[in-house]
Parts: sequence; C-alpha cells; structure tokens
Amino acid sequence: MTKNNGIANSILDLVGETPLIKLHEITKNLRGSYFAKVEAFNPGHSSKDRIALHIINDAEKKGILKKGATIVETTSGNTGFSLAMISLVKGYKCILAVSDKTSLDKIDLLKTMGAEVHVCPANVAADDPRSYYEVAKIIHKKTKNSVYINQYFNELNIEAHYRTTGPEIWEQTAGKITHLVAASGTGGTISGTGKYLKEQNPNIKILGVDAIGSVLKKFHETGEFDSNEIKPYKIEGLGKTLIPTATDFDIIDVYEKVSDKDSAFAARELVKKEGLFCGYTSGAVIQATKQYSAMSFFNEDSFVVVIFPDHGSRYMNKIYSDSWMQEQGFLD
Ligand code: PMP
Repeated sequence: MTKNNGIANSILDLVGETPLIKLHEITKNLRGSYFAKVEAFNPGHSSKDRIALHIINDAEKKGILKKGATIVETTSGNTGFSLAMISLVKGYKCILAVSDKTSLDKIDLLKTMGAEVHVCPANVAADDPRSYYEVAKIIHKKTKNSVYINQYFNELNIEAHYRTTGPEIWEQTAGKITHLVAASGTGGTISGTGKYLKEQNPNIKILGVDAIGSVLKKFHETGEFDSNEIKPYKIEGLGKTLIPTATDFDIIDVYEKVSDKDSAFAARELVKKEGLFCGYTSGAVIQATKQYSAMSFFNEDSFVVVIFPDHGSRYMNKIYSDSWMQEQGFLD
C-alpha cells in the first residue's frame, strides 16, 4: 500500500491487505479453529479488486492499455464493479456483459460507477451467441482500442491471488494454516491462493466450494464435462457451466457442492452470530465448511481459513429480503 502519512494516493492503493478475522459462534460446534479472510474490506467491497487492478496494471505495463481505451468484461457483478471503479480513477471507458442472475442492485451499482451494462441470459450454453461470454467477445471485436479482461481464461487472475491473497494468509496465520476453504467461480481465488500456500507447505488442504447445478466438482473428480450436471441455481459467482482455464484443478484437493437454500441461511447466520455482513457465496463457503466438518475433514488441531468474497449490501434484494426468500420457497 503506497501510503503517505496514512494518506492513500488514490482508492487503488487500498486494494488488498484485508483482515483475517477469527470466527466464534458460527463454528462453535466444529472441531478446530476458524478464521475468515474478509474481502469486503477491499475498496470495491470484493476480492475482485485484486484481479481487476493486477490485470489493468499489467496491460498498462505492456502498453496494451492506453488512456481513453475501453475495458470490456463478462462479470457476475463484482469484477464489473472493480473494473468500473478502476476505470473511473484511471480514465478508461468500461463496458460490461452481465448475466440476468445478477441482482438489480448490482446492475444499478455498475451503472452508477459509469459502466455501460449489457444484461444477458444466464441459462444458455457458454457458446450461445446470447451468453455473456459471447456478447463480451463481440463488443470487444467491434470496439476500437478495447481490452478484453477475460477473467475466466486469464492467467493473471490466478497470479493476482498468488501474489497477494496467498502471501497475506500465510503471513497472517504465521504459517499455521492447515486448510483453505474457498468458493470456485473463475477459480482464480482458490487456485492462486492455494498454489502459493501449497508451495509454502504441501500438506495444506485446499477445499473447494461448488454449487449444485455447476459442472466443476464432477470435472475435478472425473475429468469429464457433464452437461447433465447443469441446472439453474441462484448463487451468483459460484460454480460454472464451463471449465475456466483460470482454475488449476491440480491445486484443489476436493470440491463440495452446496444448495441455494442452505447457503442463504448460512449467510444470514453469519450476520447474526459474528456480525459479519457478507454476500451469498460467503454463506456458501460457511455451509461447505460445515459439510466438510460433518465429513471429518477437520480435527482439534485444524487451523482453517475461509475466504468470504464480498459484502452483504449487494444482496439486500436477495438473501437479505424475506420476500425474496419466500419467493424461493426458503421461508414459510
Ligand atoms: N463469490 C463471488 C460473489 C464472486 O463474484 C466470485 C467471482 N465469480 C467468486 C465468489 C469466486 O471467485 P473466483 O472467480 O476467484 O473463483
């Protein structure tokens, strides 16, 4: 962090170096100690600040990105917010293709941050011309002087976490970490963080979190892309209906799948028991941690770090709305 007497030169200096916070009540009945890396403390309120800044800085260094250029990306919202925020500070135009699963508040946020937003259907194949992947590609081709961030297939996504999230956790735990539990979307967080941690201590277990309705767990176990696994689900940013190359499957020891309902209740429980107001995938991570615990992954000596990817404010019209929970059939 480039700080001058406690003054940041810009909001971008505040990306990363998020706190590790001990969990108490919510993990009371689980064996071991539990600590949360709370990524909501980034200025854009999610872990995606790290990759957005790393990829943009890299493109600038390589001379690919010049002032006045356009940044194009596919995003479930958070990467878009980070890119839009950085674009404002650095003077770029930002065009985002988002899935229609993205909460309305997130879309409004992106627009507030100056981005042009294209909403695309979530439940179509990745190679369908209507998918947000294809729409972003087309916009990139048509827009002169544009850069496609391509987080699902960009090595720099893994590298951002390898260079920052991994070393931070290693230092914050003084090397005591035994398990990492992390959500897998693009796979950048779990792969980059996991790679760094395993290089420090190969015995550290990297436990992935996938969504029911996504193909990642089965692909990890069998090497097979099984489209029968694909079902609509509600959790934004978790799991995939394609195999992202930003996921290093060799680094991940195991995946566990979680449901929309359990994850929503786990996120609410996190607020009530720890005062931590985090997003839907943070609920998914806590839910998976409970499931891993029930399968005896942990013992009294386990030092477990879970990553909470974003802030709860982006889900007020979803998991933190009783009427939304009722509509899903989660609440009576
Ligand atoms: N949680 C949320 C809310 C996200 O937006 C994402 C990114 N898609 C993830 C978790 C997963 O992180 P990653 O893409 O690094 O696997």
